[in-house]
Amino acid sequence: MAHFCVNCGTELVPRMVDGREVEGCPRDSFILWHDPKVATAVVVESGDGVVLGRRAIEPGYGLWCLPGGFVNADEDPAAAAVRECLEEIRAEVELTALLGVFHIAKTEASSMVGIAYRGRLVAGSSPQAGDEMLEVGVFRVDGLPALAFPSHRAVLDEYVRFLAQLAAGAPRRGAVMAPRGTPPSRPQGKPRSRRTR
Ligand SMILES: [Zn+2]
Repeated sequence: MAHFCVNCGTELVPRMVDGREVEGCPRDSFILWHDPKVATAVVVESGDGVVLGRRAIEPGYGLWCLPGGFVNADEDPAAAAVRECLEEIRAEVELTALLGVFHIAKTEASSMVGIAYRGRLVAGSSPQAGDEMLEVGVFRVDGLPALAFPSHRAVLDEYVRFLAQLAAGAPRRGAVMAPRGTPPSRPQGKPRSRRTR
């Protein structure tokens, strides 16, 4: 399918950049990058289980998933995770650890980078189904229902390993939460014609 420049509307043509064939504008510096999408998922602890929602939308209608979703362009991933918890399970959640970063390969679309957190309900907050959920439930990790996404299974497996390491008193590799609220590293401005991969 033909693609067109967002600056001038000219049809893009193949161009080699850093050894990759991409589509670029023949009249200006625009290049159509196919970046991975960034998404979050949160393992929200409640009692001796974790909170899952049963999906009221496709994909995965009727199956269960962790709260989470796509990160907006200007959003701190941790803030996006908290926002998605408010929207999907209508609960205020405090993130307590970074569980991991997951590559989710796609064949028909850009791949995804999944950022998974451990979280807990803020005191007085109890989960309820948001607009995209049929219901919410709390499940022990040894009794999980059918999940909508293999990546959420991988996150929950990592969560189980995380708990086992905590119980064994082992230090976690790389599980420090990134500092929050750091300003943009450069001002918003003209897009660069090239960037380092
Ligand atoms: Zn152009």
